[in-house]
Amino acid sequence: MKYAGVIVDISGGKLDRVFTYRIPASLAGQVHIGVQVEVPFGPGNRRVSAYVVELSDTCAYDDSQIKELFGIDQKGVAVESELIRLAAWMKEEYGSSMLQALKTVLPVRKSVAPVRKRQVRWALPEEERAAFLRSLTKRQAARLRLLTALTEEGALPYETVTQKLHVGASTLRTLQEKGVIRVEEENPYRNPIADNVGRDQAAILNAEQRYIADAVCADDQNGVHGTYLIHGVTGSGKTEVYMALIAHMLATGRQTIVLIPEIALTYQTVMRFYRRFGDQVSILNSRMSAGERYDQFVRAKKGEIRVMVGPRSALFTPFTHLGLIIVDEEHETSYKSETSPRYHAIGVARRRAALARASVVLGSATPSVESYYRCQTGEYRLFTLKHRAVREAALPTVEIVDLRKELEAGNKSILSRCLAERIDERLARGEQSILFLNRRGFSGFISCRSCGKAMKCPHCDVSLTLHRGGRLICHYCGYEEAAPQACPSCGSRYIAGFGIGTQKVEALVARQFPGARILRMDADTTAAKGGHEAILSAFADERADILIGTQMIVKGHDFPKVTLVGVLAADLSLHGSYYEASERTFQLLTQAAGRAGRGRLPGQVVIQTYSPEHYSIRLAADQDYEGFYEEELPYRQMLHYPPVYAMMTILFASRDETAAERAARTAEALVDRYIGRWKETAAVLDRAREPELIGPCDAPVSKISDIYRKTLYIKHVDRRVLVTIKNGLESLSPWKSERTEVAVQYDISG
Ligand code: ADP
Ligand code: ZN
Ligand code: ZN
Repeated sequence: MKYAGVIVDISGGKLDRVFTYRIPASLAGQVHIGVQVEVPFGPGNRRVSAYVVELSDTCAYDDSQIKELFGIDQKGVAVESELIRLAAWMKEEYGSSMLQALKTVLPVRKSVAPVRKRQVRWALPEEERAAFLRSLTKRQAARLRLLTALTEEGALPYETVTQKLHVGASTLRTLQEKGVIRVEEENPYRNPIADNVGRDQAAILNAEQRYIADAVCADDQNGVHGTYLIHGVTGSGKTEVYMALIAHMLATGRQTIVLIPEIALTYQTVMRFYRRFGDQVSILNSRMSAGERYDQFVRAKKGEIRVMVGPRSALFTPFTHLGLIIVDEEHETSYKSETSPRYHAIGVARRRAALARASVVLGSATPSVESYYRCQTGEYRLFTLKHRAVREAALPTVEIVDLRKELEAGNKSILSRCLAERIDERLARGEQSILFLNRRGFSGFISCRSCGKAMKCPHCDVSLTLHRGGRLICHYCGYEEAAPQACPSCGSRYIAGFGIGTQKVEALVARQFPGARILRMDADTTAAKGGHEAILSAFADERADILIGTQMIVKGHDFPKVTLVGVLAADLSLHGSYYEASERTFQLLTQAAGRAGRGRLPGQVVIQTYSPEHYSIRLAADQDYEGFYEEELPYRQMLHYPPVYAMMTILFASRDETAAERAARTAEALVDRYIGRWKETAAVLDRAREPELIGPCDAPVSKISDIYRKTLYIKHVDRRVLVTIKNGLESLSPWKSERTEVAVQYDISG
């Protein structure tokens, strides 16, 4: 390669500017992506450090204008080099521009770090304090005041000491020099509660847990860094195994990244890590500002943090001695990025681990079909935890109720007689119930019962949903209108809502159980900052009898008084038009059932459904993961879906529908030609495996905010074939000549 594209100041927000330099002949073959180099920069040709992000043989500029880079920075391997190599891999593997990939992995410095407050504390050991206090004379009243206050309060803000206790700065300095007190900067990210909680001792692992921890540690000591999947029911002690592995990493001087879904980043989980590892732990969450995140990353790089817990972006923590990446609830959909590069956290975790020689541990009660498949093919090693760690906590009993029979029996309520009876029992015994609606927290769409017209958003290809107060709202763009009194199309007055939402469920349950205290948790009630935790802690404190909610209530919380979980309509998630609908349904139902009977009281689960015979419902009721996997995999195999096949979705989006369509057709033609050439040149055996092309067609949501969306699907057993096709299309990008801009996005899964 003759030219290198470099970025100069990777933290200053200058990622957008890639500067091109010529590679001197003496360095041929030594300059790779991610390598740190020195280049002449700016008017005076200052010698500055830079990172190589692109290589090419050609150059868009006049060669004589291009400066030559000085040389390779020999100072050592920076973690930034590793992250840039990771970005290059993500660009290639998932399809995006290099800049998009770099922006994903490199935190950009934003604003200034928050002001750090100072705290005054005792420095003397406890047993020497009394003697020191006695040694003070009457004239040293300020010291006496301060030290007495410290004995009572433990620590005091610096300002309080100088302004309220009137202790001068010079006195403080003297005491500090004598080693009597300490003035320390308060860590602004420290969980304020962490100071007051006790520290947890490591649990003594049971035999199943010990086996896993030992196996992973033994591999690690032998230099084997694999990917492991722990399949264990909720409460089987996966988190204890994670913590044992983290302790092993800390003991050997290495760092750990722990990914947990955003939704589970709640008080309970986070506190367990704090209590066990104290200040070495830090938490990232999406509510942090870019500046706060950047500061966290700086601390991680300096070694002040050794365990980073967070959502998928925590993957890019610049740890210099990364030893382990844990992905808890690995089946969660939030691990997939919805913007370019559309990466999956597990794929990136494995790549980052490979670059850093670290291991990856995945855990779930309901592993994704994909991860389980990779255990069967030998890519991952599978471990199973079969029992709950705490003996008394037995698995709940499950009843399935056929809603069709309820209607036949004349029960029009959304609660079957069985579920209503179970709720009554709970109310009488002072126990708690959870009612779960497995759809997002909004009412169903409304349509005309005479002509069938559904009320749709004028800007998006989705139905409007009915909210309290008779407002129709679009959940994609926020468009809002009043619900009509008559059908805008035929004038009929028979227009009505279909399906049920959490608000409606709440109203109906309140009517049926007038004395019950009810809480609702969905996208509407949790929108406010801290909304989640407020509702969950109210329920945990037993300030309500019934919690009604969506997806978000089934994640990772322990409510010992909950003995009943009712699933109101298990089918709702079955009828999605995507191939993972059965998998999602099975996962949701199994996880929901896992909420019942977490404490000492036995749990019961009632699943209401219109399709009691469907395998994902039947097997979720039996808590039979292997059974589900065995039903599901042949279906994926037969229809050529992931994980057996890899699938690429190419999205063409434009304000101009015909431009989007033209782009999709051009891509189709190019891929067709590629397949034609493939057939000519491929080995006979390979010819049977020609890439399958589906579309172009409308995307599942064909319009969002007035942008039209067309898709093309390509499937092949070998993911690398899809990557090749993507690279080919990307380099040609014929839609660049369209008058109206067409945005093209790639999404490869499997
Ligand atoms: P999971 O992560 O699989 O849901 P946890 O690790 O949270 O399971 O364990 C469930 C409960 O059992 C927790 O309260 C935990 O403290 C307890 N527990 C797990 N392993 C042990 C053990 N070896 N000894 C004692 N208690 C344990
Ligand atoms: Zn009508
Ligand atoms: Zn809309």
